[in-house]
Amino acid sequence: MTSIGFKRYELPPLPYKLDALEPYISSSIVDVHYNGHHKGYVNGFNSTLDKLEKVLKGEVTGYDIQGIIRSLTFNANGHKLHTIYWYNMAPAGKGGGKPGGRLGDLIDSQFGGFDKFKALFSEAQKSLPGTGWTALYYDTEAKNLLFITIENHFMNHYAELPIILIVDEFEHAYYLQYKNNRNAYLDAWWNLVNWDDAEKRLQKYL
Ligand code: MN
Repeated sequence: MTSIGFKRYELPPLPYKLDALEPYISSSIVDVHYNGHHKGYVNGFNSTLDKLEKVLKGEVTGYDIQGIIRSLTFNANGHKLHTIYWYNMAPAGKGGGKPGGRLGDLIDSQFGGFDKFKALFSEAQKSLPGTGWTALYYDTEAKNLLFITIENHFMNHYAELPIILIVDEFEHAYYLQYKNNRNAYLDAWWNLVNWDDAEKRLQKYL
């Protein structure tokens, strides 16, 4: 039996209250960011799937398949990367510090210690041109922890790279509180890092 239809996506629950990241990230930012932007990517992902189904059913003519794919990529990655971003943070007072576990060991053995890792990752974040993301991922081929920058949301494939830790550098992630001082937001973000979550992500690939 043949049929036409794609499964739909849902906004995952925020793993803490809207004000849990204060004072580092204000509740109004989390509200707009999660309930506005992230939900928008989920909705955009699903509405693009609506469109794709209509194309397959022959209900639209003159569609632009490249535009549809671009919309899928933008919204799918927007959704997936935000999900990692939220879970990569812990309520204020419960995050930050240094990683232990295998992640801590790998950071020590590859980067010459946490302080050097933090300085380099922070520098990478702060030098990102324009809008996007900076992430730490685990390359399973050579078993390396490496940095990657993601301009806008446009990775050349869906965000299934083993991303261990990611920071959102879109203006919507900080502007309400930090205005144009992105570096202050990036410095504050370290206080929220959920190293247990990062460790769990790494463990899946070891
Ligand atoms: Mn965002």
